[in-house]
Formats: sequence, C-alpha cells, structure tokens
Amino acid sequence: MSVASQTHAIAERLQTGLRTAARGLIIDGKSVPARSGETFAAVNPATGEEICQVAKGGEADVDLAVQAARRALANPSWRDMSAVDRSQLLYRLAELIERDAEELAVLECLDNGKPATLTRAVEIEGSIKTFRYFAGWPTKFGGETLPVSPRSGAKILNYTTREPVGVCGLIVPWNYPMSMAAWKVAPALAAGCTVILKPAEQTPLTALRLAELALEAGIPAGVFNVITGFGEAGAALVAHPGVDKIAFTGSTEVGKAIVHGSTGNLKKVSLELGGKSPQIVLPDADLDAAAASIAAGIFFNQGQTCTAGSRLYAHASIHDALLARIADHAARLTIGNGLDAGVDFGPLVSQEQWDRVSSYVEIGRAEGAEIVTGGGRPAGMDKGFFFQPTIMANAGRDMRIVREEIFGPVLSALSWTDTDDLVAQANDSDFGLSAGIWTNDLKQAHRLAAAVKAGTVWVNCFNLVDNATPFGGFKQSGWGREHGRQAMELYSEIKSVWVNLS
Ligand code: NAD
Repeated sequence: MSVASQTHAIAERLQTGLRTAARGLIIDGKSVPARSGETFAAVNPATGEEICQVAKGGEADVDLAVQAARRALANPSWRDMSAVDRSQLLYRLAELIERDAEELAVLECLDNGKPATLTRAVEIEGSIKTFRYFAGWPTKFGGETLPVSPRSGAKILNYTTREPVGVCGLIVPWNYPMSMAAWKVAPALAAGCTVILKPAEQTPLTALRLAELALEAGIPAGVFNVITGFGEAGAALVAHPGVDKIAFTGSTEVGKAIVHGSTGNLKKVSLELGGKSPQIVLPDADLDAAAASIAAGIFFNQGQTCTAGSRLYAHASIHDALLARIADHAARLTIGNGLDAGVDFGPLVSQEQWDRVSSYVEIGRAEGAEIVTGGGRPAGMDKGFFFQPTIMANAGRDMRIVREEIFGPVLSALSWTDTDDLVAQANDSDFGLSAGIWTNDLKQAHRLAAAVKAGTVWVNCFNLVDNATPFGGFKQSGWGREHGRQAMELYSEIKSVWVNLS
C-alpha cells in the first residue's frame, strides 16, 4: 500500500471509530461526558464536515477535574515517586506517542487540516522529543547549597529545594495542538505537578488521545486530566481557587483576560502569546537561501505559527529580486487535503480564521498595499477553508497588516535603506516573539541580533526550535520561557532552608 493510501486508510478507520460515540472529558483517569450533557462538533477543515461530537466541558467539569488533580497531587504514588520512576513514565509516554505516531498525525490532519506527512515529521516527532527531553530532567533538577554569612557568626547550613508548584491549568491553542500540549504537560509532570489540559475548541482530539496514552504509560489517574470545550471552560480553570498555576499559549487578548481572571488566588501565570516577527534582509544576504526560508517561515502550517515571519524588511537594492524568489516558492506549494500525497499546504483551521485572514487582505489593499500573489481562495477549491499563500508589497509601517497579527499565510513586505531606521521599524511593535536576520556580515549580524527586541533571534535560519533552548517573548508576546531549565522552573517553587548547626 502506498503512503497516501495508508494515510487514507488510517483516516477512514479513525473516523469510523470516532463516529460511534461522543468523545468524553478525561477526569480522574476516566472518559466521562460533560455534566451538562452538552457536546460540540469537531470539524474537518479540508471538507467543512463533522468528524465527531466532543464533550463541552464547563465550570462543573473543571471543578471535578481540579478535585481529581488535587487528590492526585497528594497521592503518595505520584508525590513520593522517585525521580528515576517519574523519568521512566515520561519516557514510556514518549515511546507510546512514537508507536502511534502515524495515527496521531492523521488525527491532527483531520482535526486541524495540516498535512499529515509534515505533521508526522515535525509536530509528532517534536512531541516525542519533548517527552524524551523532559524525561531526563527529574533526575537532574534539584537545589543548591549556598554560602550564607549570618551576622551572628552562627554556623548555618542553607540549601534550596525545588517543589512542584501544584495543580496546573494548561490552556493551549489550535495551531500546533499536540506540540503545545507536549511543551506544557511534559515539564509540568517532570516537575511533579498534576495537570488539567484545556485544548482549543477547534482541535480537541489529539489532547484526549495524549491523556489516554499517559494512562497506558502508567501515569496515575488524576495526574493528567483533559477538559475539552470553549473559552468559558478555560476561564473557569483560570478563576478556580484550587489551581496553583496557569500556563497559557494563545492570543495576547486572551492572555490579558487570563492575567485579570487569575487574581483571586494570585496563581502563578506564564504566557506564550502572539507575534509579528520581522525578517530582516541585508543587501549581501544569500537571496536564494533567504527566500526559501522566508517562504517557509510564513507559509508553513498555513501561516498559523506564532513565530511566523510576517513582516519582511528587505533592503531596497534586493527587494524586488527577493520578492520574486519568495513568490516563486509560494507558487510551488501544493495546496490540498492534507491526507493526500505531496500536499504541503492545507486549509486554514476554520471558517472564522478564513474570514479573519481574508478581511486583513482587504484591509491591506484598502490601505494601499499591493497583492503580489495569492489573496483569496485557490481556484477550484470550493469546499474547506483553503486560502492561498499571499504576499503583499508596498506595505507601510503604520498599516494594520504590518502592526497586527494576521495568523495566516500573508507576508507584508517593506523596503529599507537606513540601518537605524530599520531597527526602529523592526522594534516598532507591541510584540517581541522572534526575528530573522539575513546577512553574511558577521558584525552586522551580531549588532542586529543585540538590537532587535525579541525572545528568539535566528541568523541565516528561521523557526528552529529545540527543547534545550528557551522559547518565549519580549513585550506583549508573553511572560516566562518554555523549554530547558526555564520550563522546569515555571512548574516548580524554590524553597530556601536555613539550619542552625551552632
Ligand atoms: P485564543 O487565545 O483564542 O485561544 C487559546 C485557548 O484559550 C483556547 O483553548 C481557548 O478556548 C482558550 N480561551 C479562550 N478564551 C479564554 C478565556 N477567557 N479564558 C481562558 N481561556 C480562554 O488563541 P487561538 O486562536 O487558539 O490561537 C492563536 C493565537 O495563539 C495566536 O495569537 C498565536 O500567536 C498564539 N500562539 C502563541 C504561541 C507562542 O508560543 N507564543 C504559540 C502558538 C500560538
């Protein structure tokens, strides 16, 4: 059987299974309906058709999940588990994701629209790596002995310990559903927390499957709960006094609502929010390499990437040549149903997202930008939420398509001549998630990397992400950093212990 027909066969099998009953919430290790009995439809973005019904969790369900997570936090089999055993469980979960990788990729393709083969290679593979990476941390994450100098001259032993922050509400978006869940669940469990995951309403299916795999791996019931549903379920989690921490990835607007909503018990909050990342191209750059990476940086995942390089600042001397090359890459993308072989550009996630992207293209046109390529629905693709890869030139620094996050496959191109003005323009944004710099001039590369206000800077590359290095944003792109030691710190409290030895 060819890879494409295998993918279709997996999709057919999954859909047959999913149609038999509504998918339940996962609370205390069991799949249960919402207390209200309400469900909502999971929709395939490539066809607009319903895949299955999913439980619509609300406040009462959140309360049950929090109670389960609190009990699990106090359960000696989780609380007192040795670092080696915790590590082993996370490692086993990684193995199970790998065992079911093809199936998970197809499930994500059905639910989100993203091409299955790319999803297997990038998102599912990334999630396996994330669990393997954080499986290594429990045995390495500890405190320190510190050289304190008490005035009394007493002999004091001072040391720090790391304790799990407690019950964590993990709220994630729809653009990389599996990765975003893994980036939070893995460090939270590694730190010894218990969690309630709230996937986006557009993409609930892989989160539920991940929690089932966690149970199969031997992670005790109640440690990993899932509440599917809408923003109100997320808000209930944010407001709940039994939740110690919220880790959120999503829009800046909802991030601000979360900060307000979490004040009741002053729970800890970390935020990974929106972006409007600049791609800065100097006259000496390798234009072929830059064009390929800039095209991927805005068109991969249909532009629905927080770090999408959506503002292009090309030096005036190479602007036209670069744009022609990027447009050429856009033209070579194969658009279609992500289950089909060779497709590298799927539909947007929803009709709402299609309308949003389309309205921004209209706004850009009305503001005076010019469509170089794309701008609407691909010819002959009437079903599903397909939108062409789009480039808009002559964009101006005050245009909304340059200032606001579109979160779709739309590149806004500007040209520049003066380096100081370039830096000012690149930094003239509410966001500060990431930036790309393209040059072979070593000094300029480092000067610009220092000058750009962004949590991640890529020089002659773009969108490289690794569990070993911190990820997060300056300014309104967020609070805190995921990955690495920083992620373990997000999910733990540090305690300073003073012992009088005199
Ligand atoms: P969103 O903010 O609309 O929703 C994200 C999640 O929050 C969903 O699960 C949603 O149900 C929930 N939610 C909605 N209202 C809520 C409320 N009042 N209280 C609590 N939870 C609530 O974002 P989206 O449209 O799903 O995702 C797109 C956004 O995510 C973009 O802005 C993108 O840049 C951002 N994002 C950021 C990163 C990053 O790491 N910085 C990564 C991926 C996506």
